[in-house]
Amino acid sequence: MAEKVDRIVSVNRYRCAYCGACVAVCNFGATELIETYLVIDEQKCTGCMICVKTCPVGALTPVEC
Ligand code: SF4
Ligand code: SF4
Repeated sequence: MAEKVDRIVSVNRYRCAYCGACVAVCNFGATELIETYLVIDEQKCTGCMICVKTCPVGALTPVEC
């Protein structure tokens, strides 16, 4: 079972350019690009925020949980 985390990330679908950069940098397989739809697996996300820093258009934001 995944460890409890304090935050995950949320995607702004209007801003996302579907570039795949967040998928490439996620070490936990928590992001997946399905055609023009970015899916974030909340069970896998550790809240490391690497994807937030990597996204070129600022489409990802942290969400407290
Ligand atoms: S915060 Fe970290 S674990 Fe979560 S989707 Fe982004 S890169 Fe992956
Ligand atoms: S890095 Fe940003 S723009 Fe690129 S697929 Fe991820 S959320 Fe979308």
